[in-house]
Amino acid sequence: MTPVPTCIHAAPWVVPVCSPIIAEGGVAVGDGRIVAVDVLPRLQQLYPQAEVRMYPGSILTPALVNGHTHLELSHLAALTATAMTDRFTDWISRLLQLREILGADGEPAWQAARLVADRQYQSGVSALCDIGNTSMGGRLADLFPGYLLACKEYLGLAAWTLEKNLTRLGLEPPQVRCCGHAPYSTHPRLLQRLKERARALEHVFSIHTAEPAAEADMIREGRGELVDFIRQRGFWDNSFVSGQSDGSIHYLYDLGLLDEQTLCVHAIHVTEEEMRIMAGEGSKVCLCSGSNRFLGVGTAPVARYLDHGILPALGTDSLASNPELSLWREMSILAEDHPEIEAAEIFAMATLGGAEALGLGRVLGTLEAGKAADLLIVPSPPSPVDPKGIMTHLVTAGPAMSPDRIAFRG
Ligand SMILES: [Zn+2]
Repeated sequence: MTPVPTCIHAAPWVVPVCSPIIAEGGVAVGDGRIVAVDVLPRLQQLYPQAEVRMYPGSILTPALVNGHTHLELSHLAALTATAMTDRFTDWISRLLQLREILGADGEPAWQAARLVADRQYQSGVSALCDIGNTSMGGRLADLFPGYLLACKEYLGLAAWTLEKNLTRLGLEPPQVRCCGHAPYSTHPRLLQRLKERARALEHVFSIHTAEPAAEADMIREGRGELVDFIRQRGFWDNSFVSGQSDGSIHYLYDLGLLDEQTLCVHAIHVTEEEMRIMAGEGSKVCLCSGSNRFLGVGTAPVARYLDHGILPALGTDSLASNPELSLWREMSILAEDHPEIEAAEIFAMATLGGAEALGLGRVLGTLEAGKAADLLIVPSPPSPVDPKGIMTHLVTAGPAMSPDRIAFRG
């Protein structure tokens, strides 16, 4: 039953995301749900009993969704304190070394992760997909006021690691979401089992995909930077069969891993044909522009994704590969890297794209009837602007953006 609105939140600008921006608009809310979004006079006519709350000089928007992060790596921020000068695999080595020194899940790691999770919520993020190797994600999910999808990450490429990982996975309780790290680091049979499990439990299946260009070299030819790195670490046992698939997405597709609940994170080095496959399977993409910039791994073909009807999510990744975790900053970096993309599309990625990628499209992502009354109150620019100027303001403000919010009741 549709709730009776008790309140109309009104502002000079309302950004529903799913429909054009509304000047002098309002959002009618009842029982924690959105009932209607329209111009204020029409809402007042429809719901004369509802209290009107005005937010002068503000823009009302949906809350943001962070499609990819690793909160448990927050205490490794020293890795991004100075500019990156080495190769992707050197960065992995430094990350593993520092984690060995500082510990993976001690008190400093927990405190740093909690702080970042709090800041995410304060910055307007209501849902995030958190990937981890420890139990920290589950504990953080209990404290996060919105939706924190904690995913336990599995990895292990060598054949001798497979049995142990499959046994471990078989013992996971159904409420624990499990995912694979990446094609280059995780045995194909383990990936298949992880995906089968996620499919049966209707969990999002997140996987780093096509992040370094060297992943495709490994899949196509069985050589390159990643193969050298894995060999040095003693995990290359020649069991990986190369030359069967033409790129990372092809590889996932050939393994039967792509469907509407698969979230390909980074997805930078992807061919036109692979984008067609992803669109056909309904697979999701999460772009991590800030992390990609820091690691120097390239920029994703964003315009081509949109042309294929794929609205990506945006993710911050972790403080180990991104000096600052802010979805507002991710939007501004994407706008800088891709001036050809409309601001409205970038904002849709940070809201609707993320909500759909995390399976939360019925609750979050847009301002429309039936969704959670989870609104951000964003300061609008001081000078007169038009709808296009409002959208540009939202995606270029950067990490200084500090919205208030209308309380979340999930
Ligand atoms: Zn990641």
